[in-house]
Amino acid sequence: MKLLNPGPVTLTQRVRHALLRPDLCHREPEFAVLQREILQRLSHVYDDSGERYAAVLLTGSGTAAVEAMVASFVPRNGRPALVLANGVYGERMASMVERHGKSVEVVRHDWTEPLDLARIESRLQGCCAVLAVHHETTTGRLNDIAAVAARCRQAGVPLLLDAVSSFGGEEILFEEWNLTACAATANKCLHGVPGVSFVVARRDALPEARHSPCLYLDLSNYYVQQQKDGSPFTQAVHACYALHEALAELADAGGWKQRREEYRQRSEFLRSRLAERGIAPFLEEGHSCILTSYHLPSGQTYEQLHERLKRAGFVIYAGQGGLSDKLFRLAVMGDLNVEDLDRLVAAIG
Ligand SMILES: *Cc1c(COP(=O)(O)O)cnc(C)c1O
Repeated sequence: MKLLNPGPVTLTQRVRHALLRPDLCHREPEFAVLQREILQRLSHVYDDSGERYAAVLLTGSGTAAVEAMVASFVPRNGRPALVLANGVYGERMASMVERHGKSVEVVRHDWTEPLDLARIESRLQGCCAVLAVHHETTTGRLNDIAAVAARCRQAGVPLLLDAVSSFGGEEILFEEWNLTACAATANKCLHGVPGVSFVVARRDALPEARHSPCLYLDLSNYYVQQQKDGSPFTQAVHACYALHEALAELADAGGWKQRREEYRQRSEFLRSRLAERGIAPFLEEGHSCILTSYHLPSGQTYEQLHERLKRAGFVIYAGQGGLSDKLFRLAVMGDLNVEDLDRLVAAIG
């Protein structure tokens, strides 16, 4: 079965085999070495994050990393966190801040729209942080974070980024964007297995990230203990093995730029071949290289299309929220080759 949903991804044999390494206690020195290497590799996926940023490893899906980041970095000081939402994941961060009992303002957009910079700029003053989504997986839009970051820097407001579906597959400029932190996961563009996720954040900001109202998602606690080779709680050891191997595989294959190039080729191939069959992308512009949303072919429900493709060996993904009867989504992460994509196009056709 080939997975075209936006995570978890189809594993390579190399990563799958890593799951068979020896059983390990997370309090033994072998785990300390494994964890140290993972943290080191995570903070070096991007060239400019190595020195002033550190990775913090969590057991949980991508949402755990996002919630740990949001909980730990957003203070309870009466000033609102400004959430930029043009899809499910922006809305989800707004719900988190609200549930944590902290003040929040949302710059809401229609889910088909790019971020409205003028509206964002006019609401920046007095905010304690800006929370944005890099790749809004709801539609496949790659948000213009460079433009948002420039305005945050000017206003002196920290920027927190949900990069769960872009880390390892799209450009992230830690220093230039002056990121305070970004959250991501093992099992999307990094091609690991589900179970571990992480936050990459400024070293000097991490010890102060103590605002979490819940004990488990306190990033400063993880940071302090992991810097001493410890682990506050049981980690998903096998998922760590897989992430370790997946990061080595990424480096061997030429790093994130090479991966982006591969994704681009896959996505462009699908877009052009599906266009020949009258299937058009949902967004007119602004798609990431990772995922494209398409209008459902006329006369077909998503369920019919999904069923038919599953019988042919492919799992596709539905639209979310109000978009569930309008579109289907194809992500190109994971172990896919040209023949797989050819077969997919034939099966859709
Ligand atoms: C996948 C995803 C998440 C987290 O999803 P999990 O199911 O918790 O792994 C968060 N944000 C974005 C943008 C995503 O694509």
